[in-house]
Amino acid sequence: MVLNAEKVQPASKPSLVICGAGIAGVSAAYFLSQLWKGDCFLVDENPPLSLTSDRSSECYRNWWSDTAMLALMNRSIDLMESLAHQTQNVFHLNRRGYLYLTTQSDHVEEMIQEAQRIADQGAGQLRIHEKNSKTYQAAPYPKQDGADLLLGNALIRQHFPYITEKAVAALHVRRAGWLSAQQLGMLLLRKAQQNGVRFRRARLTQVEVVAGRVRKVHLSNGETIACDVFVNAAGPYLKEVGKMLQVDLPLENELHLKMSLRDPLQVIGREAPLLIWSDSQTLDWSDEEREVLMADSQTQHLLSRLPPGAHVRPEGGAESQMVLMLWDYQPRRFSRVVWPPPLDELFPEVVLRGLATMLPGLKVYLKKLPHPYLDGGYYTHTPENRPLIGRLPLEGAYVLGALSGFGIMAACASAELLAAHILEKPLPPYAADFAPERYQDSTFLSHMQNLRGFGQL
Ligand SMILES: Cc1cc2nc3c(=O)[nH]c(=O)nc-3n(C[C@H](O)[C@H](O)[C@H](O)COP(=O)(O)OP(=O)(O)OC[C@H]3O[C@@H](n4cnc5c(N)ncnc54)[C@H](O)[C@@H]3O)c2cc1C
Repeated sequence: MVLNAEKVQPASKPSLVICGAGIAGVSAAYFLSQLWKGDCFLVDENPPLSLTSDRSSECYRNWWSDTAMLALMNRSIDLMESLAHQTQNVFHLNRRGYLYLTTQSDHVEEMIQEAQRIADQGAGQLRIHEKNSKTYQAAPYPKQDGADLLLGNALIRQHFPYITEKAVAALHVRRAGWLSAQQLGMLLLRKAQQNGVRFRRARLTQVEVVAGRVRKVHLSNGETIACDVFVNAAGPYLKEVGKMLQVDLPLENELHLKMSLRDPLQVIGREAPLLIWSDSQTLDWSDEEREVLMADSQTQHLLSRLPPGAHVRPEGGAESQMVLMLWDYQPRRFSRVVWPPPLDELFPEVVLRGLATMLPGLKVYLKKLPHPYLDGGYYTHTPENRPLIGRLPLEGAYVLGALSGFGIMAACASAELLAAHILEKPLPPYAADFAPERYQDSTFLSHMQNLRGFGQL
């Protein structure tokens, strides 16, 4: 490769290069720039925050059955709250919570036990409310943590009248809500740039390794940057960038779709929390529709029982009519990332039908579907769905990624952890749970099976 000598950066100071300016990369730039004593470059072929980080539903929660994830999220929420406090909440962090609903009375005992277990692991107190409870407050979303379990339809509908009469229990997780991921990301990027981080709009094409450590990176614009520390924060391209370092990262990409829709009839309360349907369900199709779906092998599965997890939240202020809807009723795995991702024309109708089980008022839109706006992105995830944060088996190389469906909420604590690794600061107790070396640990590998599938919502 012929190098353009004028564009080679002098290596007088240590130099750090972050590949990827999604939420992972900009958070890393922010946390590292506070203490890093050398040059720091953030490289992305796209505008910052324009790939996966632009597609999320921007929600957060500290409610995780995996203790390591719970600790990471509690820390991340602490950091987001502190940033919100310092900036007059420029990124609109709210505390509306997540409301998980079920119709299955025989599952309520199990729900209580699981909720108690998560509460005891550090998510906060579990409070159980039965009819006539005066202690539960749905709004104005006091700064409570833990969760409130509402038992009985009357109590649920007293606070959330738009929920189906069939719901028998609702778990309101309180240290949860949503935010503007773009505004959080831009805040972190601006602060990083104020601390001296330089952004390069170019594709990273090569990482040069000399004597077993990273030395230089090559960019598509011909520029070469000396590099003592390299951070792979390439989101869905983490595996490809890993290959440049001769490291095979254990990752898969899974497409997840989402849609926004106008709700002019205000079926969903504008003050609602994130509403999540916890039951699996079989959709109600007419005979004619069943026949059409049955005739196509791609759509037959829509007639069988579909998984739990349809969810929806209001988007925008009180004056807005928009709602965001998601439901991963079928896996969408791809061996190769395609961008923009392939969409699915049946998604709006299937999701609306699924959500109408929880919110019967939505059925009115099935007669004439309001024009939906559909998009999606990839959950890049490890086999057990914990992120990868830490050192790679090549001197000077690190990774921050595999943020799956939780990258916005986890970004701050993940980047803080990465910075502690790079700057050799004391590590928090959960560091080993996210370090790439965990796949060399036989105890972890035998435990990994139990962790699979956590936290896809
Ligand atoms: C539908 C959907 C809903 C979601 N909902 C939530 C949610 O509610 N809450 C939540 O916390 N998370 C959510 N997520 C997950 C979250 O969006 C992701 O975990 C997060 O955005 C990943 O950030 P990232 O920085 O790792 O990746 P990205 O945002 O994809 O950034 C990676 C960057 O690396 C760049 N790059 C890659 N390779 C190169 C290269 N060779 N050279 C230069 N640049 C390169 C890319 O251009 C890109 O800008 C959701 C995701 C989806 C798809």
